[in-house]
Amino acid sequence: MTMSDDARANMEWAEWFQGNYRLMTDEEKALARARLERRYSREYGKAVSVDGTPAQEGVLMGYALNIKKCIGCRRCAKACVEENNQSRGKDQEIEWIRVLKMEKGEFSQEKMNQGYPEGLGIQVGGNAYSPAGVVLEGEHYYQPEAVPEKDSAYMPIACMQCEKPPCVKVCPVRTTYREADGPVVIDYNWCIGCRMCMSACPYWARRFNWSDPKLPKEAMNPVTHYLGNRPRMKGVVEKCTFCIQRTRKGRYPACVEVCPTGARKFGNLLDPNSEVSRIIARKNVFRLKAELNTFPKFFYFMD
Ligand code: SF4
Ligand code: SF4
Repeated sequence: MTMSDDARANMEWAEWFQGNYRLMTDEEKALARARLERRYSREYGKAVSVDGTPAQEGVLMGYALNIKKCIGCRRCAKACVEENNQSRGKDQEIEWIRVLKMEKGEFSQEKMNQGYPEGLGIQVGGNAYSPAGVVLEGEHYYQPEAVPEKDSAYMPIACMQCEKPPCVKVCPVRTTYREADGPVVIDYNWCIGCRMCMSACPYWARRFNWSDPKLPKEAMNPVTHYLGNRPRMKGVVEKCTFCIQRTRKGRYPACVEVCPTGARKFGNLLDPNSEVSRIIARKNVFRLKAELNTFPKFFYFMD
């Protein structure tokens, strides 16, 4: 574990010897959280809480996003940074949500077997896409004067909280795992920063702290969860956890609350009457890279 001089100075010896959170007794977990609360409160100059609320019985968290409603404003990404204490600033900016700007175009059945032009040395069938403009690939550094831009569609992406997560499979120290209520979490104290999980994730959902995170004291969100938005350190990986500090207390994730178009929905997949279950049952739904059998709990839908 690597961290700033301030953080190291505030650390108690017991933190150095702390065991893997998943394997600790409830009493050991409570002591570990209390130690962190003392340290973070000293470091950030405010009362910081580190919650340990466990998964609730009968809950499997799921997410649904109305792809037609997203206007690409990226308020979700900004709200996520503020809620989840990501590093900010030019040198070390971390965002868990990406909103891809895609070009609107058309797929047509008649062109399914159309190849690329003769003479280029390649002949590939299935070129059925007719672009409306120039770029086909998603772009997430767009700087528009106003959104939505003409001929653009938007595709927000974050951790899909896969049911069969490749990131978990490859972690050599088993510090990342799937919680019983669905989110895939990381015990930052045990992450060795090898970034195997980042290579294994097919959704580019994980971020690495190459240096000490830049988290201004005044902007730090003091309501944290051990497995979620508590401050991270240099050399560890992080990602979306469906805001477990909020959702385990019955609140919506920050991105759901802030989205001005109501494109984002969240709920319990095991409850057939939850909004998210009703969407999955009734709308046109798809999942990203479904062919990889990662079984995302993040669903895209259209009205
Ligand atoms: S806040 Fe809503 S509309 Fe704006 S980019 Fe995010 S999902 Fe799209
Ligand atoms: S989206 Fe990536 S980081 Fe998230 S659970 Fe799936 S493999 Fe892991």
